[in-house]
Amino acid sequence: MKFSTLAEYFEKLEGTSKRLELIDILSDLFKKAETSEIGKICYLIQGRVAPFYEPTEIGMAENMVAVAIGRAFNKSKEEVIKLYLKKGNIGLAAEELASKYKHKGELSVTGVFEELLKIAKFEGVGTVEKKVSTLSDLLKKVNPKGAKHIVNIPLDTLRLGVGDPTILDALSLAKHGDKSLRPTLEGGYNKTSDLGLVAETFFKKGTTGIKSIELIVGKPVRPALAERLPSADEAIKRLGKEFAAEPKFDGFRVAVHKNKDKISLFSRNLENTTHAFPDLVGGVEKEVKAESAILEGEAIAYNPQTQEFLPFQETTKRRRKYKVEEMAKKLPLVLFAFDLLYLNGRDITQKPYKGRRKLLESIIAKDGLVIKLSEERILHKTSEITDFFNEVVSEGLEGLMLKKLDSPYIAGGRGFHWVKFKRSQAGALVDTVDCVLLGVYAGKGKRTEFGVGGVLVGVYDDKKDEFVSITRLGTGLTDDEFRRVHEISKKLKVERKPARVNSDIKPSFWVEPKIVLEIASDEITRSPIHTAGRDKDGSGYALRFPRLVKFREADKRAEDATTVEEIKKLYSQQFNHRKK
Ligand code: ATP
Repeated sequence: MKFSTLAEYFEKLEGTSKRLELIDILSDLFKKAETSEIGKICYLIQGRVAPFYEPTEIGMAENMVAVAIGRAFNKSKEEVIKLYLKKGNIGLAAEELASKYKHKGELSVTGVFEELLKIAKFEGVGTVEKKVSTLSDLLKKVNPKGAKHIVNIPLDTLRLGVGDPTILDALSLAKHGDKSLRPTLEGGYNKTSDLGLVAETFFKKGTTGIKSIELIVGKPVRPALAERLPSADEAIKRLGKEFAAEPKFDGFRVAVHKNKDKISLFSRNLENTTHAFPDLVGGVEKEVKAESAILEGEAIAYNPQTQEFLPFQETTKRRRKYKVEEMAKKLPLVLFAFDLLYLNGRDITQKPYKGRRKLLESIIAKDGLVIKLSEERILHKTSEITDFFNEVVSEGLEGLMLKKLDSPYIAGGRGFHWVKFKRSQAGALVDTVDCVLLGVYAGKGKRTEFGVGGVLVGVYDDKKDEFVSITRLGTGLTDDEFRRVHEISKKLKVERKPARVNSDIKPSFWVEPKIVLEIASDEITRSPIHTAGRDKDGSGYALRFPRLVKFREADKRAEDATTVEEIKKLYSQQFNHRKK
């Protein structure tokens, strides 16, 4: 496929905010593409040249891109920037300049993809010059619309409004004629997080190929997630007569991938964080006895002398990009391993939890200092849950995780195989809600100085791949938090409502739905003005008296926010709670 054809599809995607239309356009695109291009197209749609978890970035800032555009079309950098400021988008500037230029030949999708990948991979002396000259040569070999979209890729400003579930729907529609294969495709995606790989496998080998996708060391697995229940009695009903209980450590989730001496770490939102935790990498080298393995655990700052768990605010100081060695000495982490997904070349996610736990115990050194097994107790009764809960809470931990003994590891799924039981559950609302920042209200009065007076936030509807409004937040933010929202929103501000946002309420301006905010509130109420979970009668859900607990951009993507389904469950649980 010629890149100009792909650029036409990008135009069509940009021109609609209706999800069904997005799916149709994408499906048409997939039908026209060669099988060998499908994977690359999936990455390009998301403005990337690799799956999102790979740290492969084009690495060019605005100035460098402007130099490359200028060099391609015989203009100075200043002239390019002037035009860019006039048009408001660097892509439009590139398009206009390219339209006055006779392009040399025309590259295919694969050709453009390979050039962009080459730019991402340059390193060492002369990198800047190599990147600029390769991009400027590339711009001469595509049509004006092609140039428009290409320059937005390095700047991460390609906004086609397409999320992963929409791509999965479109793949199913293109090859199967309807969307019924999305769950099957999702299965492959949950195991590898690699949309390009899933798409290409599907087009080459059909559903049989997708079903035989296994975990691959080095590709992050979408994490298994826990459900909430209002009481220990309810938990026992779900988990059976015998179940496992582990402390719920209040740190951050780490997935360890080990293949001989190559070790990678991934966060809850599947970012590669290996470089940030040299102490954990060292610990795995010494204390995990396996040729290859994928294991999961919770990392928490821990004082080995006093055997004291440090609070989350301390642990989270380790999530930084700079001075990592210094911080590793100051605040050493311990990884409490709680699950094993892969061992010595075999995907063991289908084994029951009990069996996986045994294997996990067999590969972790008994006297290790960095990698420890999470404590596990096999329980049977409500009173045992209460006793263990009180014990761990008194040690400063968050609560318990209850686990079904015979359950497989369900990648990417929230289910009753894991039940979380948190300290905050004693309150009126059973849990905090992870919301996505959708829009910002301009600051008035005292808040003019922060540039922000309040925010509109929403939750995620994973069935429809859209973000729906749930509350406005104004008083529940401190001055510093207002400033932080201002900084974030400056970068994410967009001209019109993003395609995946569904809201009747209009803030002063919209932002790209990317940032997750954890929000506590007094209760969930029905609401005629919010679109979260809106039913036929026009009634949705809202959070009453919302307060910001923390920013969660470090460990949750927008699609990992609380879902509409969860809101509905929380709503009915709070109801049951009150009846008691
Ligand atoms: P979720 O991860 O479920 O979307 P969340 O990130 O807000 O939600 P919680 O709901 O508080 O976190 O609980 C789930 C998280 O608890 C897991 O993702 C994991 O990071 C952490 N955790 C701590 N201890 C354990 C344990 N023993 N077993 C499993 N998970 C644990």
